[in-house]
Amino acid sequence: MRKLARAFLIALALLVGAGLSALFLTRRPIDPAEGVTHPIEASGEHGTDVEVSFSILPTATVTAPEAVMFEGGSWFKERRMDHSAVLICHPKALILFDTGLGRDIDNQFREFPLFNRMALRYEKLRAAADVIAADNPCPDRPLIIIPSHLHWDHAGGIEDFPNAEVWIQDAELQQARTGGTAQGFLPAQIDAESIKWHPFTFSDQPYEQYRQSLDVFDDGSLILVPMAGHTAGSVGLFLTTARARYFFTGDTTWSREGFAKPAHKFAAARAIVDLDPSLLEKEIADVHQLMLRDPDLVVIPAHDAAAYPEGAFYPGWTDGQN
Ligand SMILES: [Zn+2]
Repeated sequence: MRKLARAFLIALALLVGAGLSALFLTRRPIDPAEGVTHPIEASGEHGTDVEVSFSILPTATVTAPEAVMFEGGSWFKERRMDHSAVLICHPKALILFDTGLGRDIDNQFREFPLFNRMALRYEKLRAAADVIAADNPCPDRPLIIIPSHLHWDHAGGIEDFPNAEVWIQDAELQQARTGGTAQGFLPAQIDAESIKWHPFTFSDQPYEQYRQSLDVFDDGSLILVPMAGHTAGSVGLFLTTARARYFFTGDTTWSREGFAKPAHKFAAARAIVDLDPSLLEKEIADVHQLMLRDPDLVVIPAHDAAAYPEGAFYPGWTDGQN
């Protein structure tokens, strides 16, 4: 019996050892020095007179160990990850940067194979379309959707807004349609004839370390930039209000620490969701350097509820009159 117990302990030790070394071997450290340390053009002040404010609406939520959100995080500390829509009230439009999960998510979700459905469980909160229909925030202007990318937890509400233009790069739409569920997209979320796709391309106007950018309303308040590595056409959004500058970074990382350290997501997660780890780690190192040269910049990864500014959770609005 004692022999058996010893054999069991040895087997257990081997198993734990193998597990730990697998974790260690799959780690992929990011060298901060890889990041660009200066803006491409001297960019001066980033203030704006435009009355713009935003509110973050979690449409669903999950918890995950911190170690899943970034390498080096604790396996024992649970963190909140939200699937959110960012409502931006600008004089010319109500912009949704991402839609989170929409009204039809439970049906759409059935498209995923069993393994994905088990790994990607969510707790539904409120669909953006229901909230906007009930509260009519930022009224009397068109609604524009700008997805950071088309993964299922960002594009879920697109078909709830048949009158909205949906700004997208061709490469992103292409990847979503061909990659499908194997790459984290749900074709049922983006197949309606009614969707008003508004394909866009970046202009050769540098912004910070980005060679290209797009000033959405030509007033400096909303600047889109291409973010490499997570999907083929992921975009980030710099939002400048009267008081501060914010940078919504989509899923380039799942946590603020991902940029601050810098660090990748947990290996098993990034193997599924990240398209190109090499491009991605350059992007992460670039944002790391940007945070060093502008410590006041508020960086907000899409899922990191701890990075959402205080007072910005819907129905709270940040920095405006709403
Ligand atoms: Zn994603």
